[in-house]
Amino acid sequence: MQIVVLPGDGIGPEITAATTGVLRAASERFQLNLRLEEHAIGHASLKQFGTTVRPDLLDMVRAADGLMLGPTATFDFKDEARGEINPSRYFRKNLDLFANVRPARTYAGRPGQLGDFDLVVVRENTEGFYADRNMEEGNGELLVTPDVVISLRRITRSCCERIAHAACRLAMKRRKHLTIVHKANVLKIGDGMFLDICREAAKSYPGLAVDDVLVDAMMAHVVRNPASFDVIVATNMFGDILSDLTAELSGSLGLGGSLNVGDRHAMAQAAHGSAPDIAGQDVANPVSLILSTALLLAWHGEKSRAVRYEEAARAIEDAVATAIAQGRTTRDIGGILGTAAMGAAVAELLHRKIQD
Ligand code: NAD
Repeated sequence: MQIVVLPGDGIGPEITAATTGVLRAASERFQLNLRLEEHAIGHASLKQFGTTVRPDLLDMVRAADGLMLGPTATFDFKDEARGEINPSRYFRKNLDLFANVRPARTYAGRPGQLGDFDLVVVRENTEGFYADRNMEEGNGELLVTPDVVISLRRITRSCCERIAHAACRLAMKRRKHLTIVHKANVLKIGDGMFLDICREAAKSYPGLAVDDVLVDAMMAHVVRNPASFDVIVATNMFGDILSDLTAELSGSLGLGGSLNVGDRHAMAQAAHGSAPDIAGQDVANPVSLILSTALLLAWHGEKSRAVRYEEAARAIEDAVATAIAQGRTTRDIGGILGTAAMGAAVAELLHRKIQD
């Protein structure tokens, strides 16, 4: 399996190095023959090539079996004419990675204050309130006068249908419970359509329990009783915000794995940003990117019917859980290890199994 690795900005290079160490250990144990091909992205690429994303990267990624994208400093990239492209948007849009799958769970040894839970947020990824991806040309944010801005939100039947079915399929593999999160009381047409389509899609999955919650009330419900949720489907921005909350409820934003999936391609990407406040200090939690990459291996295994990739993904998740249970973690979840040492601990737990 060939994976294009783009380390990103801020804490990106540190968590990428920790994650590639884990991938190498997994490759050795499960004979995955992983080939990691690293290229610059974000500020490093802007400095070297005059653009945050070199155009030839897209073909490289299309030819590879998967992409691992570190967090990038998207807030810094404002002017595409000066090469400042948002890498995350670029790959999601050009590879049509319509589903953003973001699991969140608690771990033994780190019981959450809210009790144990295990849920997944499935977020639409290609339209909604993301002005930089919902237009064929131009941008969905318009400056009408210096004091008036209009931000456009695009919702389409086809995008609602495909995200609804992706969420239903995932729920059928889990506890068969789908929660639709929306704001159809205010966004009556757009979220109304999203809600109707999700309910309709769910009817073709026998035994699937479906409910729906308004997004504002959802913030209270998920904090009050996260264990009552299994798979949650939401439009782009609501899913983005909700999944940061569920990651933090699981212990840290640094624990939130995230896979962007389309019909042909997938991109592992930590749920969090480039965290400039802690960059270069060897304190960032590498687990989010490690778990994202495990999701990528599992996706590849399922797609290519190669069970050992799915086994490797499960082993990485187990090794992360063991490291957390043993307290071998970064400080955001109560440990004393640095980023590199926590990555090494997970890699060592994977290696140890070879000798068992
Ligand atoms: P952030 O997610 O980078 O950080 C939010 C908070 O969480 C910070 O306190 C940070 O220290 C902490 N945090 C994040 N990741 C962590 C980790 N792995 N371990 C421990 N703590 C962690 O959000 P921000 O500060 O608002 O954004 C910083 C930059 O990242 C901005 O330029 C933003 O546009 C960008 N961003 C990029 C992505 C992406 O590439 N997918 C996503 C979100 C934000």
